Amino acid sequence: MSDPRVRDTYDRLAARYGPRRWWPGDGPFEVIVGAILTQRTAWANVEKALVNLKRAGALSPSATRALSDDELAELIRPSGFYRSKARKLRAFLDLLDESFGGDLGRMLVAPGRELRPALLATYGIGPETADAILLYAARQPVFVIDAYTRRTFSRLGIRPERDTYDGWQRLFEESLPREAALFGEYHALIVGHAKDVCRAEPQCDRCALTEVCETGLGRHQVAGDERVMDDAAGDDEEVEDFVIAEDARERVRPA
Ligand code: SF4
Repeated sequence: MSDPRVRDTYDRLAARYGPRRWWPGDGPFEVIVGAILTQRTAWANVEKALVNLKRAGALSPSATRALSDDELAELIRPSGFYRSKARKLRAFLDLLDESFGGDLGRMLVAPGRELRPALLATYGIGPETADAILLYAARQPVFVIDAYTRRTFSRLGIRPERDTYDGWQRLFEESLPREAALFGEYHALIVGHAKDVCRAEPQCDRCALTEVCETGLGRHQVAGDERVMDDAAGDDEEVEDFVIAEDARERVRPA
């Protein structure tokens, strides 16, 4: 299902915000660690954990593996859910060792059709985390879907036929040239826009998408209408529900 509005939205966001140059991280292993640690927490907390790991000289697969469970958990404590996340990092390292001989470079050049299922079968790695690793660490053209994407595009009136992770991903991947750099920029633009403008209470009066947005146009036509404000309520819960659902899927995966 291709939708030309997907590309048009990218052009508008890129014109407004300029290059994002994501993902923050010094090398693919740091990107992977960040992708796991950022589950259910703000990026500022992840940065503190990454600084701890760097200071301890532990931001490489072999150095992270050499840490005890308690040492690793303590270093990543600022990211929250730190014991569970330490277990997730260990599960990733087990996958790296058992399937790729501990060679991160070898893992990252594996075809996405092989690497994605292997990541998804790993404890603590759901579709969003797996796709962030594929896109930002392996530079493979896989579109990352998150709660911000679903919220913003639902408001725009651009939705897939099926409201599932795969449905949303197909919408983007079939509407855009299959380029990792483009996918990476677009996801970064969506996250920035959703955090700054299309927030739980959307700031439509300063949005670059107002003239093409179902919700934005509706708000302009009925400015001050309390019903519209009510419709926007609860978005934080919606985002949180999605995040929790993602986490729950991850928790039930076998270790
Ligand atoms: S116009 Fe409003 S609802 Fe639409 S994308 Fe912009 S901030 Fe979000």
